[in-house]
Formats: sequence, C-alpha cells, structure tokens
Amino acid sequence: MLSVMPFTALGWVLTVLLGARRRRLAGCLLAWSQPGGALAWLLAHHPFGPMAAVTIGRCVLAASRPALQATWAHEAEHIRQFERFGLLFPLLYAADSLRCLLRGQSIYRDNRFEVAARLAESKTAHQNLAGRRKPSSSV
Ligand SMILES: [Zn+2]
Repeated sequence: MLSVMPFTALGWVLTVLLGARRRRLAGCLLAWSQPGGALAWLLAHHPFGPMAAVTIGRCVLAASRPALQATWAHEAEHIRQFERFGLLFPLLYAADSLRCLLRGQSIYRDNRFEVAARLAESKTAHQNLAGRRKPSSSV
C-alpha cells in the first residue's frame, strides 16, 4: 500500500502556517479557518473556484467549522481515495481532470473522484434522513 503520510504532513504544515484550528478524529487531522483567516481566503480563491474544504492525505482543511461539518462525508471519500491510491492519487486526479478538459467537461465537477465524493456525500445525507424517520421505540 502506498503511503499518504507525506501528504498528511504537508496538510499539517499548511494548517500551522495558515493559523488554522485543528482537531484529530479517527486518525485524521481536521482543520478549519478562523473567520477572515488565511485558510478561508485561500479556499475562497481556489483555482477551481471557491471551495468549502480540501483534503490533503488524511488532513481536511475547511473554510470554517460549519463548512467542515457540512463537507465531512465528501472529504472522507477523498481521504479513502488518498488511502487507496497513495502517492499516485494527485496524479490520477490531475489525469482525470485532463480527460474532462479534453472532452469539454468541467475539470472539477466531472472529475471521477469528485463524482464519487458527491455520491458518498449523497448516500450519507440519505442515511441521515432515513435515520431521522425511524420511529422511536419509547413513543
Ligand atoms: Zn471534492
């Protein structure tokens, strides 16, 4: 298995340099920007368009704490992708963006890794809704 450690380390360094708040959860590093912080500014000016969060290895960097919570299922899929493909993941992601560009598609929205992350996000939202609909046994 290829390691995601170098990317996670890079993500951690960025959180320090950008003054982000951090928390560890299940072997992941979650970071979010202070209001008006450098991380929020960088995500708002991402080359693919404004982003709520990005994942680097097992590190998720979000524009705010609510953004982190809202995007967790999506970013968790990117963590799984990093774990699956390791050091090759950024290259595979870029290659798929190139495939999209050559087909006249969006290099972000149509990228197969983004499509998979949105699907995971959708499944989680659906499961959460289904969980809320369960009748309470105490009522
Ligand atoms: Zn994504």
